Parts: sequence; C-alpha cells; structure tokens
Amino acid sequence: MKIIDTDIAIMGSGLAGLSAAVTALGKGAKVAVFEKRPFQGGGVSNTPMMTLAVRDDQAYKDKAFKIHMDYTNWNANPDVVRSWIDNSSAIPGFIKGLGIEFMGEKMTPFEELGERRGYGAGFPNAFNIGDYYFLKPIGRGHGAAVICKKMADRVRALGGELHFSTPIQSLIKEGDKVIGALAKDKDGNTVQINAKAVIVASGGFSDDKELLAELGLKLTDKNCSDGGNVVFNHFCNSQLTGDGQKAIWKIGGARSGMAVNGHNMCPGPGIVGDNVAWLQQNKLRTIQEQPYLWVNQAGHRFISEEQSDCHMAMVTAINNQKEKFAYIIFDEATVRHMETEGVEFYYFIFEAAQIPNIRPQFETVIAKGNKHVFMTDTLEEMAEKTGICKEGLLKTVETYNGYCDKGTDPQYAKNPKYLRPVREGKFYALRVFVGGYHAYGGIKINGKCEVIDKDFNVIKGLYAGGDCCAGEIYGNPPVGGIGVSTLSFSQGFITGDQAAAYVQQ
Ligand SMILES: Cc1cc2nc3c(=O)[nH]c(=O)nc-3n(C[C@H](O)[C@H](O)[C@H](O)COP(=O)(O)OP(=O)(O)OC[C@H]3O[C@@H](n4cnc5c(N)ncnc54)[C@H](O)[C@@H]3O)c2cc1C
Repeated sequence: MKIIDTDIAIMGSGLAGLSAAVTALGKGAKVAVFEKRPFQGGGVSNTPMMTLAVRDDQAYKDKAFKIHMDYTNWNANPDVVRSWIDNSSAIPGFIKGLGIEFMGEKMTPFEELGERRGYGAGFPNAFNIGDYYFLKPIGRGHGAAVICKKMADRVRALGGELHFSTPIQSLIKEGDKVIGALAKDKDGNTVQINAKAVIVASGGFSDDKELLAELGLKLTDKNCSDGGNVVFNHFCNSQLTGDGQKAIWKIGGARSGMAVNGHNMCPGPGIVGDNVAWLQQNKLRTIQEQPYLWVNQAGHRFISEEQSDCHMAMVTAINNQKEKFAYIIFDEATVRHMETEGVEFYYFIFEAAQIPNIRPQFETVIAKGNKHVFMTDTLEEMAEKTGICKEGLLKTVETYNGYCDKGTDPQYAKNPKYLRPVREGKFYALRVFVGGYHAYGGIKINGKCEVIDKDFNVIKGLYAGGDCCAGEIYGNPPVGGIGVSTLSFSQGFITGDQAAAYVQQ
C-alpha cells in the first residue's frame, strides 16, 4: 500500500479544490490534491462563462445577503450565505493574480441589486447581487478551465502535489477527528493518505442515478429516449457521483439540501452539439426562452410564461407537472414575428435578436430524427403527434386566444405584450424537459465550511466547499438554484484558510 503524508488532503481539483489548495499553500501548509479524473477542472471543463463577486462594501454585502435569504425564505443556512458573500470580493483579484485578464466586467449599481434577472438573463432577480466578471475563453469557451489550469500550475509552483486518476474513496476518522483518507491510484492500488485535515471539494452527483431518484428524477440520455425526465446535456459524462457526500455521510456527517440546477432543455439530435452539448447547432434553443403559450401533457397552461427567461422558475414548474416535461407551442404568425420583429428574450450565451429560417430549422431537426420537435398543419395533428390531450389543448388554445384578443390574461396575469394567439397553421412545438448543468449539495457545513455531523457538532479536521455544499445556500428544492463558481471560489478560500489555521494550531 502506498502512503502519502501531508498536512491537508484535498478531494477534487475543480474551482473549489484548487482555490483551496492555492490558499492553503499560501499560508505555508503542505497540500496534496487528489482528483478522480486524469485532469483538473471538474465542472468547468464545460464552459462557465462568468463569475460574480459582491463588492467589498458593507452596504452591498448586506443588501446581497438580505436578497438571497429572502429569496430562499431563510431556508438557506444564513452563516454559509454570509461567509460566501463576504469572501466573494476576493475573487477578481485572485483570478488576476493568476495572470488572467477578464474579457469584460459589468458593475451592478446598488439600486439594481435584486431588481433584474441575474447574469443579465436566465436567472432569478435574486441572483443579481454582485458584479459580473466575464472569463476569457480559448476558442468558444472554457474560460474557467483556463483558470483551473493556471491554479494547478500555481499549486505545483508552491510545492503542492497533484495526484490525478486517484479517487478518494473513504475518509479515516479517529474519535471526533478526521485524520486522512483512502484512495485508489490509476493501477488500482490503495493509497493511504495521512493528513491533519481533509477538504472535500468533489462537486455534485449528476451521474448518480440513485441520488437523482431520491429527488424524484430519472437520469436519462441526451435524447431523453428512455422516458427519463432529467438530462444534463450541458455536462455529459461528468463522472460526478456524489463521492464526497457519500464518504462524509458514512462517517456520520449530516445531509444538507440537494438539487438539480434547473435549466429547461429540449434535447435530441440537431439542437444540442454531439460532443459539447453546450454549443447549440441552431437557434431552436433560443425559442425555448420565449414567453408564448406553454402547456403540459394535459394541454393545460401551468405558469405565467413570462417566467421563461428565468430557467429556475421554468424548470421548477415543469418538474411539478405529472410527466416532468412540457411544450412551447406557437403558430406561423409568431414565427414571422420572431423572424422579422425579433424575439422577446434571449439568454446571453445564445444570442439571437431575430431567429431567421425557423421552418427550415424545424424541418432539418425533425429530419435528423429528433422526437421532441414538432411541426403540423393543425392543432389536432399536433395533439396526435405529441400525445398532448387533444380536448385539453383545443380548449386551452381557444381560451388563450380569447385572452390574446382582449389583451389580458386573467389566468396568470402574463404581461399582455407576450400574449400571441395560436391560430394560423403551421403549428410548431418543442418538448422541454428538466435539464440542467449539474446536481449539487448534500454536505452540511457551517459558515467556516467545517463539516457538521448529525448532532450538529463539527467534525474536526474536515472541511467542504463548492458544489457539494451548494445545497446550503438554497435549502432543499428538488430542482432550481444553481451551483455557481462564485460559491466555489469563496468556499475554496474559506476552506483553505480554515484548514491551514487548523493544521498550524
Ligand atoms: C456547463 C456548465 C456551465 C456553467 N456555467 C457557469 C457560469 O457561467 N458561471 C458560474 O458561476 N458557474 C457556472 N457553472 C457552475 C460552476 O462551473 C460550478 O459551480 C463550479 O465549477 C463547481 O466547482 P467545484 O470545484 O465545486 O466542483 P467541480 O467543478 O464539480 O469539481 C469537483 C472535482 O472533484 C472531482 N472528484 C469527484 N469525485 C472525486 C473523488 N472521489 N476523488 C477525487 N476527486 C473527485 C471531480 O472529478 C471534479 O474534478 C457551470 C457549470 C456547468 C456544468
């Protein structure tokens, strides 16, 4: 058996693990990072585009804290939210310190905090709590992957060790203290890690069917071909199976909220890329952002569609439907509107003021065998092809068209400017699922990122941060919320600081 002695062992080399490593090394601790995959980067291999920091001004930090806590009904852990927000102002300087310039910066005025969609579009207003820093991509993405590469270089330069293809499988606890971990190296040999402290930064569980099933979700493939209802097209093959969570629960750590980061998603060939699903092949992705008529399988509306530019609200509502999928339906007049006048919403990553050639795009995608994209001459035919209840759909369309004619929505009070009737064939529909970037949460911590046991005592020498703890900042929604780089960086700094102080005691 191979033995490695270190001060601090870190599980995972994503943003949280590596920022913890750089921080702890900077404090003079000896650090060894263990990574399951053959390379560093975790979630960021799939293109995080920007990060957020709450500026170091008490009024901003207080307002950001209150907005976030109100948004979660104080279901989030207030100490964890506070320490995340208070530490986030160090992120831009930390990234610049790695020799990386931002592609752009967008400062949010105080009065706009909580008043607009977070990240500009796609996220709840409560996410608009700080300043945005756009990461410089290489090619068409991977801005944060570059940061991880630089952090890995920094870890080596500071004398830290990086052990790739060496997953940590369990934690060693003696009395009330964690004193190390057991890992497997790439040849299958057991590695005993003797450490004074362990930091778990092993991300989420988007590749773990059992944990997803606990949230009532069935993991499916990128075509949703097997009746499954949750798909991670943006982060296929993440290999994230909740290893850190399971290792901590096994030694008595408490469970925190767990969730899927919600992102409404029409899957299947022709819409998402084959390898990097993130990179869409056409503009049909943007159609899912639109606030036109949305119905469930019973043919009923289920949300004020103007929420379609808030992915978390949309995916929560979709998840609340019996089948856990829904449809956006529109007609030829709306096609002309999107082609000439333009769309109502677009997500900044999928920019599209107007969407040209919608019918040819539908035809192409249908010809590629996509089973979730529909174009028909009549609504009856649409009901038949989609399986939507015909009576329900026809009744809803009749009622909804009446609202459009009167310019008012007595059902869900949708802004009248988004009321567009569904009347003129051809008719178009996309079937939209509970998709996401990733799943997150599961580990209960306090504001110092110390891991908490079932009796709410601190497990000494054990720290955790990043996506694996992100449930702590939302409470316990089955979908919605999002694991974000700002949290991973902040908690990387906190765990690195705290663990270094602990081992130096
Ligand atoms: C497609 C996509 C786009 C995103 N875009 C943005 C964005 O624009 N802005 C933003 O703020 N956030 C974005 N996010 C979220 C952000 O990327 C994540 O919140 C963040 O990268 C998580 O970092 P982490 O270090 O906590 O976890 P991860 O990045 O998941 O890292 C965990 C690491 O632990 C490793 N690991 C797992 N098990 C073990 C084990 N047993 N032993 C050792 N290592 C293990 C994993 O392989 C992985 O490398 C995006 C996420 C995705 C997936």
